[in-house]
Amino acid sequence: MTSSESRAEELHVMLVAFSAQGHINPLLRLGKSLLARGLQVTLATTELVYHRVFKSSSTTAATTDTIPTNFTTNGIHVLFFSDGLDPNPDQTQLTPDDYMALVENLGPINLSTLIKTHFINNSKKLACIINNPFVPWVADVAAEFKIPCACLWIQPCALYAIYYHFYNNTNQFPTLENPELNVQLPGLPLLKPQDLPSFILPTNPFGALSKVLADMLKDMKKLKWVLANSFYELEKEVIDSMAETYPVIPVGPLLPLSLLGVDENEDVGIEMWKPQDSCLEWLNDQPPSSVIYISFGSLIVLSAKKLESIATALKNSNCKFLWVIKKQDGKDSLPLPQGFKEETKNRGMVVPWCPQTKVLVHPAIACFLTHCGWNSMLEAIAAGKPMIAYPQWTDQPTNAKLVSDVFRVGIRLEQDSDGFVETGELERAIEEIVSGPKSEELKRNAAELKRAAREAVADGGSSDRNIQTFVDEILATRLDVMESSNEVNK
Ligand code: UDP
Repeated sequence: MTSSESRAEELHVMLVAFSAQGHINPLLRLGKSLLARGLQVTLATTELVYHRVFKSSSTTAATTDTIPTNFTTNGIHVLFFSDGLDPNPDQTQLTPDDYMALVENLGPINLSTLIKTHFINNSKKLACIINNPFVPWVADVAAEFKIPCACLWIQPCALYAIYYHFYNNTNQFPTLENPELNVQLPGLPLLKPQDLPSFILPTNPFGALSKVLADMLKDMKKLKWVLANSFYELEKEVIDSMAETYPVIPVGPLLPLSLLGVDENEDVGIEMWKPQDSCLEWLNDQPPSSVIYISFGSLIVLSAKKLESIATALKNSNCKFLWVIKKQDGKDSLPLPQGFKEETKNRGMVVPWCPQTKVLVHPAIACFLTHCGWNSMLEAIAAGKPMIAYPQWTDQPTNAKLVSDVFRVGIRLEQDSDGFVETGELERAIEEIVSGPKSEELKRNAAELKRAAREAVADGGSSDRNIQTFVDEILATRLDVMESSNEVNK
């Protein structure tokens, strides 16, 4: 063991996220990398995650309902704090804004108690806390204990730059008076209003979500590092454009290693729902590059009108498909148009949740009709699959712009002012991506990005080097941390 490794053994890093799979999994994968470099890693998340994900595998709590404090997943210690949400289904129906208010109110107090109980009172040295943009208050808790804080940005670096410029008023953005204004920012193509994240548009109804981002981006001094789940080769120009202001350090893609060509079955990550694995068997029986995979992620519930137009396009296109439609709470059946399942039963499968990363790498998958959630996009990039972009809200419109105009690995659908896509437009896009004139170029670009993603995380790749530099910097600050925590304890 080298001397730096023996020192690192004593140092702890804590990851903090609330109960969203897409927020926790990138943090856990970064945590696994830190663990491999000799740091001790703890995830602090909300009690809902314990009840939904870990409870069934816990021996301690099986009879008592007490949340254990000795829980680990792949070597990462997991602790749970209350966000004020009683994990019964009725209360999980809060609007995003109500939930943000709840967690912002109780999170800081409960996280502080957790830090005191598990670290300070046990003389464990917490060298760094890593949050994500949706829990900006964690940086204040870290400051209270004089612990350096890093943020893992979980959207493209392009979004970090856009939000930075918006919340710091460096450029003009659309307003109610001037809603059609286009925006030109360094390192990015010209952005029309429909390419901007919905939270910064004058019509945004989700005030609390916009506020948490503002909290982070208006006061960057609280963060010693901004890491990002992206990679340099994917977003060079925009990453370089931020280098002189508040740099962003790409350390991704933070995905299951099997998706990155590393022969490893054991992924560190949580699943909020049980996937229907039988779809993999069905895919095994399909010819190579013959199936369109369709999913809108974990949060979006499509309107009946949108479902109907997708279903009709799938019927008319005569293509094979695997479609994820999440069950709505309390309902048993999937909200599919009448007769659709019977009419397409020989060439399609509809499931409520699938093992997406395994589906995307399956050779039968030709392309991905996606809502452009960043995790889904990174997974498709690592799998080398072209995309049809059907964005709905938050970062997704910008991500769709990146798919078509920056990464050039897909087609963006034409949407009306309500975000609706006509059946004919969907049929055109399916035809274009499967066999149109651009199809070969899109496949080539997707294969090239797949290669670049693997190189970034391989030994000596750009993200691997960035993680090592981050660890070296944590080690270098450890003495300050130890002295400061002693001060706080006096
Ligand atoms: N996912 C999955 N099975 C499904 C659909 C989605 O495992 O049937 C996973 C997907 O692999 C991704 C996450 O759910 O990691 C969705 O995250 P994303 O950022 O794409 O979208 P969000 O759910 O945050 O809108």
